[in-house]
Amino acid sequence: MLRYARNDNKPIEINKLLEMNQNTLYVDTANLSELTKSFKKFFLNDTSESITTYRKLTQKVAGYISEQISSQKQAYSGKSPQDLITQIAEFEIFPRQGMALETLLERTRDLVINHNISVYHPNCLAHLHCPTFIASLTAEMIISAFNQSMDSWDQAPAATMIEQAFCDELCKVYGFDNQADATFTGGGTMSNFMGLLLARDHYSQLNYNWNIQQKGLPPEASKFRILCAEFAHFTVAQSASILGLGENAVVKIKTNDFEEEAAALEDAIISLRAEGLIPIAYVTTAGTTDFGTVGQIGNLAEVAHDHGLWFHVDAAFGGALIFSEKHKYKLNGIHQADSVTVDFHKLFYQPISCGAFIVKNKKSFEYIRLHADYLNPESNEEFGILDLVYKSIQTTRRFDALKPFLALQHIGTEKFGEMIDYTIDLAAKVSDLIEIDPNFELATRTQINAVVFRYIPDENLLDSEIDDLNNEIKTKLLLSGKAIIGQTVVKGRAFLKFTLLNPMTEISSVIELMELIKEMGKR
Ligand SMILES: *Cc1c(COP(=O)(O)O)cnc(C)c1O
Repeated sequence: MLRYARNDNKPIEINKLLEMNQNTLYVDTANLSELTKSFKKFFLNDTSESITTYRKLTQKVAGYISEQISSQKQAYSGKSPQDLITQIAEFEIFPRQGMALETLLERTRDLVINHNISVYHPNCLAHLHCPTFIASLTAEMIISAFNQSMDSWDQAPAATMIEQAFCDELCKVYGFDNQADATFTGGGTMSNFMGLLLARDHYSQLNYNWNIQQKGLPPEASKFRILCAEFAHFTVAQSASILGLGENAVVKIKTNDFEEEAAALEDAIISLRAEGLIPIAYVTTAGTTDFGTVGQIGNLAEVAHDHGLWFHVDAAFGGALIFSEKHKYKLNGIHQADSVTVDFHKLFYQPISCGAFIVKNKKSFEYIRLHADYLNPESNEEFGILDLVYKSIQTTRRFDALKPFLALQHIGTEKFGEMIDYTIDLAAKVSDLIEIDPNFELATRTQINAVVFRYIPDENLLDSEIDDLNNEIKTKLLLSGKAIIGQTVVKGRAFLKFTLLNPMTEISSVIELMELIKEMGKR
């Protein structure tokens, strides 16, 4: 008889149909339960041991973080790359036997927590690398503890509905109607890629009745061109390459003093067509990474649409201006876009990763829709079950929407807008100071948070000497831990950059940093 037996040998019948087999299967449940017990202490679960450990260790970690944040004097400890390698070598990364988490956390504190770049420090201003809201950090705890996965509703019921509701409101905020939709992404790179992916597939479907998802690239694809200004983010070229169009398919339009112009776009489209090429999309940047410039979105949209191009707005940097009463006009026309990139882990002060992709016509997501029997069978849709995987190029995906969902409700868009205004104002004031300082040269007036300049202590220096000096200042500041500032190239010359996106930064500390730059630049 087939029986399922406990280790006390009292058989439990499980399947009468198999009685004929005369077999008994013994299962040692006591031993197995010892084994699961030994696993349990490593997981979050309902035992009091697990709950106590979780509380104790999260408090300990919160203590370490608080101590570091409240005592960190410099933007970086200044530890050298080689010192870090040496310190990491003391860790056995795949040990056979584990060790107490307390001990490990302590060692990790000494390595990781103490040698972070402090995004909270006023001298951390190289990149669009932001301080984070406390509300969003609490969201991160919930996100990771409950580990919902946004690909299917049966892995994230409330989370799915929150993300969808957030996306619907986000579309409205940018002026789109209810035909629009959005999805969360890992950031601007992925959002730009999705924009150009949909642009490519839409163009082929519309003009050649050619389904790229099924058939691959159409014969005309080698003539496809993606247009953008010369200062567009490098991910435009990266996307073209991954999309099988090649980086050479990206046509960069020269600008006058960093300003994108509709007339230049029109000229470019006409001359490409005359060469027999096929412009399919234009990417405008609302807030260029290096210069913070924003073009006339509405005018550019009109030209792009007049010529049948997909119009994508890369607002990874500038998207937050929508909540600024003073500066939102810079995004006028954004609702005319076919797709928009918004990054929350930049000027929205969210922990990484957190980005969104908006599309004007939600039907465009059809170009990437796939059905997996195990994940989002079509039958789910009949029951009103929403499996978000159809509008993402990721499968397993974090519930990042909870971060801006909590933060913006907590702070309110009015206060948030004041923060944006403050930072833009700060950048303008710093630009003024740099402009009147004979030892500095300002590259251009910024429209938002980036200030690009270089240090010229002596008129008689050669250009190459000025380049070396500015590069040296940047590296010395980083390696001393005193400041993390940006660098870029303007008309072939080395420039420095302050990205002033931290609303806690006071102008006095930027002035001190300018003095420090002069100090470092002394030969
Ligand atoms: C940062 C940035 C990107 C890339 O976004 P990630 O979030 O870093 O992937 C794209 N475009 C612009 C204008 C950016 O500033």
